[in-house]
Amino acid sequence: MLKETYRMTGTVKWYDENKGFGFVKPDMNGEDVFLHHTSLQQHDDINIVTGDRISFIIQKREKGPVALEVERFEEENELLQFDQVEEENELLQSDQVDQVGIGINFTDLDLNPEILRAIRDAGYVDPTPIQALAIPIVLKGQDLLGCAQTGTGKTAAFALPILQRLGKTSDNQNRSNISNNIKKQNLRQIRVLVLAPTRELAIQIGDSFSIYGKYTGLKNVVIYGGVGQNPQVKKLQRGVDIVVATPGRLLDLIRQGYINLSHVKMFVLDEGDRMLDMGFIHDIRSVVKMMPQKNRQSLLFSATIPREIKEFAKTILHNPLEINISPNKPTLEIIKQAAFFISKEKKQALLEYLLADATITRALVFTRTKHGADKVVKKLRRKGIYSEPIHGNKSQTARQNALKNFRTGKTRVLVATDVASRGIDVDDISHIIQFDLPDVPETYLHRIGRTARAGAGGTAFAFCEKNQRKQLKEIERLIRMPVKIVQNHPYIF
Ligand code: AMP
Repeated sequence: MLKETYRMTGTVKWYDENKGFGFVKPDMNGEDVFLHHTSLQQHDDINIVTGDRISFIIQKREKGPVALEVERFEEENELLQFDQVEEENELLQSDQVDQVGIGINFTDLDLNPEILRAIRDAGYVDPTPIQALAIPIVLKGQDLLGCAQTGTGKTAAFALPILQRLGKTSDNQNRSNISNNIKKQNLRQIRVLVLAPTRELAIQIGDSFSIYGKYTGLKNVVIYGGVGQNPQVKKLQRGVDIVVATPGRLLDLIRQGYINLSHVKMFVLDEGDRMLDMGFIHDIRSVVKMMPQKNRQSLLFSATIPREIKEFAKTILHNPLEINISPNKPTLEIIKQAAFFISKEKKQALLEYLLADATITRALVFTRTKHGADKVVKKLRRKGIYSEPIHGNKSQTARQNALKNFRTGKTRVLVATDVASRGIDVDDISHIIQFDLPDVPETYLHRIGRTARAGAGGTAFAFCEKNQRKQLKEIERLIRMPVKIVQNHPYIF
């Protein structure tokens, strides 16, 4: 028997319930795999039938490969892929969807000239898949549940049509020109609210609105904690159309009477899964109550759509269209992934050993805790490897500086916790190093998605402790491919 085993996916070619066996056609392997009823995880209710999509451990045996630990994909977990739409969806007919990604131009998306000009200035040539799909939906005023990660171009996917819907350019510019003796705060009302989980992400979204909206005359403000509120309040008082905010400070300013949400027409909740993870659910509910419930368009974006998000989406979205962009598939294929089995004590030594390689030009290292990030940085610095930590205990200025240094190349190694890493939008990260494996497999995807941006290659290393084999298996199941185990490194136990 060959030792090589890994989890993969395939389609059941045929399965005979009475005989209790059949064959599976794996996605990435020409050879059919033998399937026996004992390999079904839950004998009673798995009910395999021909055509089912399943995930299984493949084991090579002398007489041919066999499938072990079979799990059937449950329909409710299967999100719409970007080339599929919900059947009841009337907006995107299949013939329209087929066109997405093959030659759709920004000019096909009914965007107005001011917005097209800003897109050109930004250097964008073609819309990304989520932009091609979401822009027409948002322009039509429909609610949307979008499964997409940072890096897919999702900010422009909502910002561009929102800017367009906000109104005619000339109206907005006229408002800015009205003489000073009319109080401007009375002229602009907050018509768009975007909620984001982290300050970094909120700032990035605000910047995007400014870039895409530079010829529209529309104004935005970014509201976040950790800094003095006065500059934000002043901007609010001068009048804004769009507020991008993290929940805590937003509620603070609402309570102080600086923000009134009663004119909000469009609401975006970004990184919904992270919002829930960070415990913002009550804050979000409070915010939602303060907006008009009728005639409000709502968009929810999330990197993953677990059940809680689906449930939550029902409470804020009205008849939403769902789209799922899985950048992971194409991106994953161009990321070199490797796992190192290592004891906890030797992780730092392994990290230093790896960083001695000059091809690691810009590395983002993930630790489970803030304290862990600080410790790693301290030790790296002692070895002459310049690195900086980024996590929630750092001041806003320190975080911004760390990001800036990383972006400009001053810092070669940035050590981050997951929460802080959310808003990091830095191109050319050559390596992602997971000093600690994440507790949830999806986080692995978020992390490695930080490299290989815009089609560039990247490498992702994961340090795996002896008792974390199961976690690694779960990750492999999620990404539907095996992660190469590095067998010979100096610190292998
Ligand atoms: P996001 O997923 O919104 O964080 O965007 C990821 C990155 O892609 C950002 O740096 C954007 O500036 C960039 N981007 C967004 N849309 C496009 C596009 N259509 N063409 C090229 N770059 C884009």
